[in-house]
Amino acid sequence: MRHEVLYSTAGIATQILVTDENFLMLLDIGDGTIRDIVEKLTSFPINKPIHIFITHSHYDHSGGLYSFLGFLCMLNHSHPVRVYSPEGSIEIDAILDSFLSVQKNPLSYPFEHVKLTDGDKVELNEATEVESYQMQHQGSIIGIGGTDEVPSLGYAIFRSKEKWLAYTGDTGYHKNAERLVDRASFAYIEATNKIGESNSYHLTPEEAHRLGDLAKNYQLIHTRYESR
Ligand SMILES: [Zn+2]
Ligand SMILES: [Zn+2]
Repeated sequence: MRHEVLYSTAGIATQILVTDENFLMLLDIGDGTIRDIVEKLTSFPINKPIHIFITHSHYDHSGGLYSFLGFLCMLNHSHPVRVYSPEGSIEIDAILDSFLSVQKNPLSYPFEHVKLTDGDKVELNEATEVESYQMQHQGSIIGIGGTDEVPSLGYAIFRSKEKWLAYTGDTGYHKNAERLVDRASFAYIEATNKIGESNSYHLTPEEAHRLGDLAKNYQLIHTRYESR
């Protein structure tokens, strides 16, 4: 089982790939996911179930969902596909309703949409379980600041009860983010805000490092493109 960031820039896209011999998993599915997957995987079709865990409905975390589901149809993918999203993510619900309602042929794969809330546990197989942790996030507009709160979840993947990987998605610093990352073998932590620019819905690099220190290893991701 391996994990790698396919791409991550705040306001553009984020997608993390987890590969296992028994399934393929995406943590978030921003724009460009098909391109990134085609560059990484050497063999198609993908001969295993696919699990897509979306942290929240912002376009930079979900913008590739519609096209990826179409891509799987084109591949004649036949294994189960499940999309997991936070309860109340109306944009994800709308993307899926739209996709499913315009298909002229039956989907080539069994499809399921699973809505999650804080503390839900999903068993992928005997050895692998994913737990959701409520995060703290809202939209923002340059020049205006924070907008509406969005349902958002961080995910921890457990392998044989070990917290193998934690992923925050977008979040401000809070106790539940600490719980998510605590003692993880590896954590992907967002660090969208600039140094000293603290707010309640994204992390500064200082806050992200503080969180990361709770894990055994970590990587900061989802920095902002203006800060590069
Ligand atoms: Zn984001
Ligand atoms: Zn966001």
